[in-house]
Order: sequence, then C-alpha cells, then structure tokens
Amino acid sequence: MNCPYCGYSDLRVIDSRDVNDGVRRRRQCLGCDLRFTTYERVQSVGFFVIKKDGRREEFSKDKLLAGIGKACEKRPLPVGSVDGLADEVEAGLYRLGKAEISGSIIGDMVMSRLKSLDYIAYIRFASIYRDFSDLTDLKQEVDTLVSTGIETAQMADQLPLLPEVRLATLTKRRRRRG
Ligand SMILES: [Zn+2]
Repeated sequence: MNCPYCGYSDLRVIDSRDVNDGVRRRRQCLGCDLRFTTYERVQSVGFFVIKKDGRREEFSKDKLLAGIGKACEKRPLPVGSVDGLADEVEAGLYRLGKAEISGSIIGDMVMSRLKSLDYIAYIRFASIYRDFSDLTDLKQEVDTLVSTGIETAQMADQLPLLPEVRLATLTKRRRRRG
C-alpha cells in the first residue's frame, strides 16, 4: 500500500478497530506525515466444485439455487423453501471446510433434503444429478421411496395435481376395463 497523497510506501498503523464485516485502520505516512483511513473487508474463502469430468469450478450459490429451483418448478411449496434449502446446503458445504468439494457430494446433500420436502422435485433433481444410466435405476429409486408409508402418503397428496380432466379420463378408462 502506498500513501494516497505522496505515494510513499512506508506507512504506520496508528489505530485499528473491528467494524461490521472487516477492520478499519488509521494510517500515517512516514513520508509526508498525512493520515488516512483504510477499510479491510473479510472475504469468506470460497471453494471449488469438482465436476464429473474432473474440471474445477468455483462454487456458485446462484447455480445451486438455479438447480434446486428447476427441480421445484411449479411445485406447491411454501414460499422460501427453495432459498431455505439452498442456504442450508451452502452452510453445510462451508462447514466441511474444504478447498474442493465433489459435485456429487453437493448433489447428495440437496437430494437428502429434497426427499423430505417434495417427492416430485426429488425425483426431478435425482434424475439430473445422479445421472441415472437407465430407467431401471430410476425405477429402483422410486420403488424404494414408495415402499415406505410416509412417501406413499406424500405421493397420494400430489396425484390430484394432475389436471382434473386427465384424471377423470384415467378413472373412466380404468372403470371400463374393469
Ligand atoms: Zn505521504
């Protein structure tokens, strides 16, 4: 750092105090004796995401939000669920304290939370993130979920979200067959 008045680089810190998100320092130039104040901001140290192809990319909260948002699109979720979920995952990732985190770990963290939030959103997200190699894998995942009572109830709740007309048609067809 150089003095803003004369450009001299020999400076003395005469006062230092913590402010909201950083440190405020009062400095004096040893060349011209003038004083000035600097603010140093604490920047949270980010981390890199290791992608499937091995490339590294700086973690982006926006991308995380977009991914979750896409899976939850048009789902009847309480306001703020998507943001809340993204916040939780982000905090969890920072708690790991690693410089590099595998994308699949992030995917798993999102999925475990989506699973209890919304069944359809979970399946949507899983089908993208887990990269199900074929439908058998996806079916297995669905079967596992459906085999537990809670998820079955959740699924039943979500069925009426089909357009009513379509539901009626399906019911009629089923009746005719029986
Ligand atoms: Zn100076």
